[in-house]
Amino acid sequence: MVELNKKIYMDYAATTPVDPRVLDVMLPYFTELFGNPSSVHGPGQVADAALESARRNVADLLGGRAEEIVFTGCGTESDNLALRGAAMGQRRARNAYHVLTSPVEHHAILHTARQLEEYYSFDVETLPVDQFGRVDPQDVKASLRPNTALVSVIYANNEIGTINPIREIGAVCREAGVLFHTDAVQAAAHLPMNVHLDNVDLLSIGAHKFYGPKGVGALYVRRGVEIIPVQTGGGQEFNLRAGTQNVPYIVGLAEALKLAQLELNQWAPRLSAMRDHLIGRVLEEIPQARLTGHPSERLPNHASFVFKGVDGNQLLMMLDAAGFACSSGSACKVGNPKPSDVLEAIGVSTAWNKGSLRVTLGHGTLPEHIDGLMDVLPGIIERLRTLSVV
Ligand SMILES: *Cc1c(COP(=O)(O)O)cnc(C)c1O
Repeated sequence: MVELNKKIYMDYAATTPVDPRVLDVMLPYFTELFGNPSSVHGPGQVADAALESARRNVADLLGGRAEEIVFTGCGTESDNLALRGAAMGQRRARNAYHVLTSPVEHHAILHTARQLEEYYSFDVETLPVDQFGRVDPQDVKASLRPNTALVSVIYANNEIGTINPIREIGAVCREAGVLFHTDAVQAAAHLPMNVHLDNVDLLSIGAHKFYGPKGVGALYVRRGVEIIPVQTGGGQEFNLRAGTQNVPYIVGLAEALKLAQLELNQWAPRLSAMRDHLIGRVLEEIPQARLTGHPSERLPNHASFVFKGVDGNQLLMMLDAAGFACSSGSACKVGNPKPSDVLEAIGVSTAWNKGSLRVTLGHGTLPEHIDGLMDVLPGIIERLRTLSVV
């Protein structure tokens, strides 16, 4: 039975709690082992050893080399450094100013691309996507130009859960000699990562999506790829990200990524069974309901829907009151009725696109939580439809 006074958290795509095993390895680096890794003395060298060990571990887990891992302040910062840094680097190296990206990127990419266009005179082109939000590698191939600086396509979408054919897109870019970046911030929690197999030159991750701390990320930068730093100052992180490294958080990121990648085969079947149970019940029991995103090529923990004629914000508030913490999937805030860019990109019509619901499962989810949600969801949808004129 679901306890009414306890919120059931179903928003693991927004953030995850820190795994206690991760917290354990972080703690000494706040207090006893507090040195600055750039210092020459003993305490500095202890911190530096932890930093470099974390770097080697992250590199091993992603299939790269230690010197190809740059630690950053979050997933957003990794995306900024990749897109802005590579665009600037490629323009300087070979006067390339065409940037190719998709309409279903996280705002960390979308708004960065927009700024590159508006203030830095880059030519930003948006690839088409199908009804599930997938990019077709052949469309990438057809859109490449001699002056393409880089291609950036999200690995797995945060809003609708769709997984892109990254390996094939990477192969197209590799063949044309064009840099390829992927935002793997959601994907790294659930899918095996390998930058070589996936033909990726730049790859972003952020720890708090895989049971690590908030405020720390990493960017894989293939050796030889020229990028220009976004944040200038000291020579930390191979001159690509100035600022004293956040050693405890970096240690936490490495441990969390290790656990996520080692345990994903354990979690994926468990999560996807609960996800499929939820999707089946919603589509069966709620009229005028649709799944958004790909039916099979989707994150194992991710279910997302639209309900015709329903206000998504009201839906979230009523679910919250009923004890369930879910999301609309977009960064849409209360009082901002602008429909999501991603739902518009996949062609969801206006009668439907305000009624979005994202339910993302995680380590704390139990099968009875899904049934508990389904005890209340159909009634809430029905009430919202009769009460409001959307
Ligand atoms: C959460 C997220 C980001 C941003 O990561 P932060 O660490 O929160 O800055 C970027 N891309 C995707 C796909 C995400 O899900």
